[in-house]
Amino acid sequence: MELPVVEETAAETIYDVAIIGGGPAGYTAAIRGAQYGLKVALIEMNDRLGGTCLLVGCIPTKALLFNAEIWDHLQHAAEFGIQGIGAPTLDWTTVLQRKDAIVTKHVKGLDFLMKKHKIAVIRGYGRLTGPAQAGVHAVEVANGEAISNIQAKNVILATGSEAKMLPGLKADDRILTNIEILALNEVPKSLIVIGAGAVGMEFASLFRTFGSEVTILEFLPRVVPVEDEEVSKEITRLFKKRGIDVNTGAKVEKVEKTETGVRVSFTDANGKSQVKEAEKVLVAVGRAGLTGNVGVEKTKIELERGLVKVDAAQETAEPGVFAVGDIVAGLPQLAHVGSMAGMIAVAKIAGRKFRPIRRDRIPGCTYTEPQIGSAGLTETQAKEKGYEVKVGKFPFAGNAKATILGNHDGFVKIVSDAKYGEILGVHILGVQATELIAEAVAVMELEGTVDELMFTIHAHPTLAESLLDAYGAVNGMAINA
Ligand SMILES: Cc1cc2nc3c(=O)[nH]c(=O)nc-3n(C[C@H](O)[C@H](O)[C@H](O)COP(=O)(O)OP(=O)(O)OC[C@H]3O[C@@H](n4cnc5c(N)ncnc54)[C@H](O)[C@@H]3O)c2cc1C
Repeated sequence: MELPVVEETAAETIYDVAIIGGGPAGYTAAIRGAQYGLKVALIEMNDRLGGTCLLVGCIPTKALLFNAEIWDHLQHAAEFGIQGIGAPTLDWTTVLQRKDAIVTKHVKGLDFLMKKHKIAVIRGYGRLTGPAQAGVHAVEVANGEAISNIQAKNVILATGSEAKMLPGLKADDRILTNIEILALNEVPKSLIVIGAGAVGMEFASLFRTFGSEVTILEFLPRVVPVEDEEVSKEITRLFKKRGIDVNTGAKVEKVEKTETGVRVSFTDANGKSQVKEAEKVLVAVGRAGLTGNVGVEKTKIELERGLVKVDAAQETAEPGVFAVGDIVAGLPQLAHVGSMAGMIAVAKIAGRKFRPIRRDRIPGCTYTEPQIGSAGLTETQAKEKGYEVKVGKFPFAGNAKATILGNHDGFVKIVSDAKYGEILGVHILGVQATELIAEAVAVMELEGTVDELMFTIHAHPTLAESLLDAYGAVNGMAINA
């Protein structure tokens, strides 16, 4: 049963906190705020809560990537002794329907949670009107012709981000962002992906599995440039093995439409002009924070390259105004970072204890085939910070569970401090890396050392044992390699 969302706009109500934006950062802040007993209003301009993450980001992409995983298993069914599958065919309409059903289910779940926590969900476009007057902020909410004013003692900006476009280009049915590519009515025969961050790499991996000819064009010298160099190098090798045309150091000069598709001209790493043609092009060159039209200029809020500067409690330079999620400067644009920031902001507002976000304790996950999960410092970063570094590396080839799953690609790499054995960074490339990284984050939060972890029992046979072997490898004592 779909529960109606509470709509409360009584002019005399003064909320403890008004949150502008109902993505993961905003809705998490709303729920936690209500749990603290705060009176919360959540302002969302879209018909559906969930933001980029639920509607056109994390969830729909991972739904499709799971289809790709199943598809891949079916292609290799005979190797697992399963006969009679024949030549599987892809019913793309059903694939999209399943993805959409997953999104809808969770949008309904959010509506339920808003009602459960008595959060006033106000539909419309929210804008700060300026600093607080006598301790009360006013947020103007425009819903079509109707304009209302929401009063609140604190405001949280959680307006999120949108895909950056290359100059002069506009998204359409052939030049795609994350929004259009998630609604394609068929798998493209060929796809050029501009930008090899997590978003570009995931779509490249996904459509390659479904049979598209995929070309990646990345301006920087390596793919997934925020990851450890060894991860970038190995995933490049594995993508190339899968038939993906990976071009790094590639400067896109021009994107044009042809009669049937698109043509992308670029200068390659050797300075040579190159041209690639494809049915579609995905532009995945980063995300711009939506800070442009929310009244920031009427306040003391400081911006850094369009993103909002905040303190450890997520508060901006304007007292009582907080910012969380993709609009925040200096933090990675990830759903789990936004939701934690939301919980921190309302803890501060409610006068509760909180721990500020530590950048080196944030898991980063890329759901490619194989996956990447990482946290903490890369080997290079640790050396640059002056640590004497000791590295342990263990290949999944030595892990029995990886053999059972039929996937030996990748490795676990531990970056540790030689002096005390503290774990500074963990970098996993391989099957289920996005799940395995959770152990590493917990270990680093608790300042675990290599010596302690070498004596921490990991169940057998599990992929997690690869971490145990990698801790051992720091001291040259992996058992299975
Ligand atoms: C293809 C793709 C895949 C991704 N996959 C992952 C992943 O696997 N894991 C991960 O952690 N991150 C992933 N991300 C990033 C993740 O989606 C974002 O980090 C996350 O959505 C940011 O949350 P947010 O709440 O700050 O903003 P958003 O999710 O963008 O939500 C902002 C909300 O604010 C609303 N809004 C904006 N302005 C106003 C206004 N003035 N008034 C009212 N409402 C307003 C918007 O309608 C929107 O609902 C992915 C992103 C993309 C594009």
